Amino acid sequence: MSKHIIEDAKRCIQCKNPLCEKGCPAATPIREAIRLFLDNRLAEAGKLLFENNPLSLICGHICPQENQCEGHCVMGKNGSPVFISAIEQYISDFYLNVYEPKKMLKNKKRQNVAIIGSGPAGLTIAFLLLKKGYGVTIFEGKELTGGILRYGIPEFRLPKRVVDRIVDVLVKTGVKIRPNTTIGANLTVDDLFRDGFEAVFMGTGVWRPQKLNIKGESLGHVHFAIEYLKNPAVYNLGERVIVIGAGNTAMDVTRSALRHGSRDVTIFCNLDESGITASEHELKYAKIDGARVEFCKTAVEITDEGVNFADSKITADKDGRKVAKPIKGTEKLYPADSVIIAVSQGPQSVIVSSTKGIDVKQNGLVAVDESGRSTRQGVFAGGDVVTGAKTVVEAIVASRKVAEAIDEYLTSQIG
Ligand SMILES: Cc1cc2nc3c(=O)[nH]c(=O)nc-3n(C[C@H](O)[C@H](O)[C@H](O)COP(=O)(O)OP(=O)(O)OC[C@H]3O[C@@H](n4cnc5c(N)ncnc54)[C@H](O)[C@@H]3O)c2cc1C
Ligand code: SF4
Repeated sequence: MSKHIIEDAKRCIQCKNPLCEKGCPAATPIREAIRLFLDNRLAEAGKLLFENNPLSLICGHICPQENQCEGHCVMGKNGSPVFISAIEQYISDFYLNVYEPKKMLKNKKRQNVAIIGSGPAGLTIAFLLLKKGYGVTIFEGKELTGGILRYGIPEFRLPKRVVDRIVDVLVKTGVKIRPNTTIGANLTVDDLFRDGFEAVFMGTGVWRPQKLNIKGESLGHVHFAIEYLKNPAVYNLGERVIVIGAGNTAMDVTRSALRHGSRDVTIFCNLDESGITASEHELKYAKIDGARVEFCKTAVEITDEGVNFADSKITADKDGRKVAKPIKGTEKLYPADSVIIAVSQGPQSVIVSSTKGIDVKQNGLVAVDESGRSTRQGVFAGGDVVTGAKTVVEAIVASRKVAEAIDEYLTSQIG
């Protein structure tokens, strides 16, 4: 692999105005990292990437580079772009091997911050606040740290040991982690303030599966994607699986099912091809792995035998978005041993329903200003719980901004 990466890095023409960096939401210093890499200064390249984004290794694995750095690389105009993701992976992987994290001692003048949720948003802000001298504790509802990185994205796309390495560095840097602690269930945000945390960051993501609201959703062979992906190994889906939904999560479910023994997996999309919200790349992989796709089919009922789909009539809603309605009389049973519903997720309400003063929008997402301040003083939020389901790099970028706002707020508190 390294042989190809070197050859590929040599294709970088070191643009004066690197479009690859403009295409990266985290403004990764790609050109300079490639220059250092080719100059045999790998640790320096790694440091540059890590300081810009402590989750650089993760981004090298799973960012949608085709729309970002690689999609913008000038070399892609008349051929293939520089394979930036593989170069970033190589550099960041090496760097984490040689990097010796130093415990960041809490500055006595700095306050304690509670971070709820250990996904990309929580991990990033923890790194940034530790660096500024704050005491940082992460509260995580699940057993292990990482959010969707650990409990959503399948092992074949992001090995869990990659997440472990980032968490290990964070722990050595001085963060305290309380696993199995859902804030709002027992301990509340008010308890955190009572116990001396002076700012709270909500990076709690979107973990409530969207329902189809049709008959049969509670049957024993029906599962929600976000729950299945937590640990596909514990499910026995059988041979024939129907996946309802056509986003990236549906592709991850499909590809996981095909790797866990199911032989006949079909993705059902209620719209035409324009209804595929998964990236082209993910859809292609799902097909290569063996999935079939059916378009313009709306699920009307799930039974023990499978799913009744009707042909879709496609119209537009008031905002001009395509919507599908079932055409009466066209229902047909598609047999399945298991059905997985993958039609998006929304935020849970466990924190906002147990805490006064944190306003949410109509869709339940936390209402914040442009810096991530919620309507309750001292409570900030970022990542998917604010934007809805987005990407890892967007959560990272949001956390950078919110870290500055928390620092400004806490500095103003000590006068
Ligand atoms: C299946 C799937 C595949 C994806 N693939 C990609 C991809 O390839 N590339 C990409 O860029 N993006 C991908 N995404 C999107 C990306 O993972 C998210 O945008 C990102 O993880 C959001 O980060 P976050 O920190 O806001 O939330 P999350 O990663 O969701 O983390 C939130 C954390 O908060 C915890 N939590 C929630 N409530 C509480 C509470 N009350 N108390 C304590 N802890 C709590 C949760 O357990 C979780 O650990 C994917 C998403 C899914 C679902
Ligand atoms: S746009 Fe492509 S060629 Fe130009 S600096 Fe970036 S990686 Fe190198």
